[in-house]
Amino acid sequence: MTPEQLRGLIRDVPDFPKPGIVFKDITPLLEHPQAFRSTIERLAEGVDGLGAQRILAIESRGFIFGAALAHELGLPMHLVRKRGKLPRESISVEYTLEYGVDHLEVHADAIVPGERYLVVDDLIATGGTAAAVGELVSRQSAVLAGYAFVIELAFLSGRKALGDVPVVALIDF
Ligand code: AMP
Repeated sequence: MTPEQLRGLIRDVPDFPKPGIVFKDITPLLEHPQAFRSTIERLAEGVDGLGAQRILAIESRGFIFGAALAHELGLPMHLVRKRGKLPRESISVEYTLEYGVDHLEVHADAIVPGERYLVVDDLIATGGTAAAVGELVSRQSAVLAGYAFVIELAFLSGRKALGDVPVVALIDF
């Protein structure tokens, strides 16, 4: 399916989760097997050549695409979770939300110095979430091979928060 067709399966939900936000709902795309398959194939093509050795998928919608992409590419997948969810020793990064701060964590042994990581999420808005995960990678002397998103809210210029690292995004708004 073309990116235009995939775009047609992203539903706008105004004023969710709060007034003024237009939530990009990916559930119609997930409910369409051919579209979901095509999304993963296109992401796989997009990241081909980045030399990624491991995937870091961001809770929670990033898990859906990260898992399928890890399966498609035959790469190890690691979970980036909200604070307090991971069972073993973890490293944490604080990041800024519109109101206040939050924390993301990954198992300490998931970030191997020198290995190349692909960070996967469903959507990039301001880029704050993805940049925080990038910081976890860099802090451990591992390498950021790239970032992959299904949706990019290009008008928010979130890529600027990600530095010179390659960014793959299938559908932009
Ligand atoms: P940001 O850190 O601003 O790039 O926000 C990205 C994270 O917030 C991703 O995990 C998205 O799932 C979620 N997100 C932000 N804005 C939206 C939106 N308009 N629709 C759906 N998810 C969003």
